[in-house]
Amino acid sequence: MIVLQLTKKLAAELKAPLADKPDAFRPLYGWHAHYFVSKRRKCVLLMNNETSYNFMIFGLVQKDFKRFNALVAEHLSKNLLADGMDQVQIDQYLQSFGDIHYSPTSDRSILSQINEVIMYAQHRMEDMTEVDESGIYQINRFLNRYVFLKLSKYSREIMKDALDGLSLEKSTAGNQESMVTDEKNVEDIGKNEKNVEDIGKNKKNVENIEKNEKNEKNERKEKSSKEKKNAGKQEGNTGAISMAAMKKWLAIPENTRREYTKNAWCWKCSDEATIKDYSVELDKHGIILEGKCASCDSEISRYIEN
Ligand SMILES: [Zn+2]
Repeated sequence: MIVLQLTKKLAAELKAPLADKPDAFRPLYGWHAHYFVSKRRKCVLLMNNETSYNFMIFGLVQKDFKRFNALVAEHLSKNLLADGMDQVQIDQYLQSFGDIHYSPTSDRSILSQINEVIMYAQHRMEDMTEVDESGIYQINRFLNRYVFLKLSKYSREIMKDALDGLSLEKSTAGNQESMVTDEKNVEDIGKNEKNVEDIGKNKKNVENIEKNEKNEKNERKEKSSKEKKNAGKQEGNTGAISMAAMKKWLAIPENTRREYTKNAWCWKCSDEATIKDYSVELDKHGIILEGKCASCDSEISRYIEN
């Protein structure tokens, strides 16, 4: 069984009624999904409840929403393969897609991570003259090598461990297997109870996601006016902005800062890159490092949410 936990916007787009979340299911089989528009195209971002593994589907049209489950399974499979997962394990996991439930969102932490990666993806897409398949491919690779403060590893590694764990469970002797499952169920029930508490808080979070969507246009306006300002070299103003940005940047512990600078994406190298010679700019929702790729000197940037 797979539980797709849809934000209101996505549920409306899918015209899908949402049922209550099943009582107990392993978070690995739950995905939060959010709908947003970028470059005037319809997009959906899905994130796994247990591993934070996530991917974006870009440019959905009406017929895609009509075969949404199959579309999600196809994209998930492609992305997992591109991120180095084993095809046999992927197929094993995808068997759960035979039974899909639509439920409301319930995990505040996942929603805030979704918010963060969408913000990142939108920044990247805005930089592209045309968003093509290879651009989306690169964004999706980077989204799973993204440093989240909450995660100890990249989401791609956590997902790989989880899939490895699944095949291990399957090959373990019956008794032991059911014990593992029982323990997990107990854990899940505990988590679910906590999730119920969070639902009230989630509403606010979803509203924020929705607000962010509305702010999208304003942000773009702001960005271009900021660029104009920079071009006009109003030094007093820029200096003040940079000072506030720098303060915020320096408030982050040094080893985390180092992680961030090693975790930029270079389009020319098509790889994760270290950012050098960077300046720190303030953004409405965080800060942006703007600098150069340490290996090829291309201009790159790294967005960091508050
Ligand atoms: Zn490079």
